[in-house]
Amino acid sequence: MTKLSDIVKNWTPAQWDALVAQFLPADFLTDAFWRGRPGPCPICGDGHDRFTYDNKRGRGDWVCRKCNAGSPKAGDGIELVCRSTGMSYVELLNCLTGKSSMPTALHAAVPIRQPGTKPLDTSAKMRRIEKQWAAASSLSHGDAATQYLAARVPGLCAPRPVALRLASQDYWHEGELIGRYPTIVAQFTLPDGRMATVHRTSLDPQQPAKACIVSSDGEVLPPKRNDVSALPLDGGAVRLMPPRDGELGVAEGLENGFAAYMLFGVPTWPCLNRVLLSKFVVPPGLGIHTVHIFADFDQIDPRTGVSPGMADALKLAKRLRAEGFKTVMHRPKIRGTDFCDEWRTVYELRQMSRQAVAA
Ligand SMILES: [Zn+2]
Repeated sequence: MTKLSDIVKNWTPAQWDALVAQFLPADFLTDAFWRGRPGPCPICGDGHDRFTYDNKRGRGDWVCRKCNAGSPKAGDGIELVCRSTGMSYVELLNCLTGKSSMPTALHAAVPIRQPGTKPLDTSAKMRRIEKQWAAASSLSHGDAATQYLAARVPGLCAPRPVALRLASQDYWHEGELIGRYPTIVAQFTLPDGRMATVHRTSLDPQQPAKACIVSSDGEVLPPKRNDVSALPLDGGAVRLMPPRDGELGVAEGLENGFAAYMLFGVPTWPCLNRVLLSKFVVPPGLGIHTVHIFADFDQIDPRTGVSPGMADALKLAKRLRAEGFKTVMHRPKIRGTDFCDEWRTVYELRQMSRQAVAA
């Protein structure tokens, strides 16, 4: 297989300039940039004079005073392009060998946040999540996302979730690249229809399970996380499937949303966690009159004396009723379980009774 290093091995300095000119966001490519004058950094995003592109070894060379967690860093044109656009080496290689064209969203400046730099502003966050969403592909039968969901929710049969996509994504932790995983990308949408963030579930590349992710110093990292939030998340949900006949369900996790659908036939939106569930707002214009609340039946927290999942679900029910909606509370039968557990039990019992009938 062709390697990126083979392709650029005999490049002239002008070819490196051309690479940088092709991929870097246009607003960085000023006269001063090409003359090697200090300017803002296309990687860490902030500052007005921390970055210099000088191509001094003829390899698209650059230096930034802050790019290494606030310390200086130098690199070549490949690193500059990959880190400023968020492309992986493989994606850049595919562009250079003509295997793929550059996703249009990558033309936007998408500074990747490094430790020690200021947070991204709202529009940069929005570009970053829109870029991820655009770069991911729709789910299809037998892909890693579908296989994972079918393993968590056996027998799963549901409308194709338009709010979920699949991507191959680098997993970064505190500036360290941990690995690259098949990743379920879920679009988190506010009541007014705007995307506020993307939630990511990193999957094991070999088997239908969540990835086991461990940093170089042995820290176990979460396979499920939100990306940056371009907008406050309160009120939103992952719109897994369209409401039916004015009825909609809400649950905490993605898998629970599918499990509730399998158990009750109610199209259900995951809110990702119990706090966001308690803040869910029914979007106007979809004709929703009834909200089914699929609570996680958490163990009682000894400090508060309540089951957190149940308490937040009841809080939501109370507010929605005050807003004039009909609510239906659903609680798993066994304490310490959620609807994903309950569906698996129901499914296994059905399988056993089928086998018994067949025997
Ligand atoms: Zn920088």
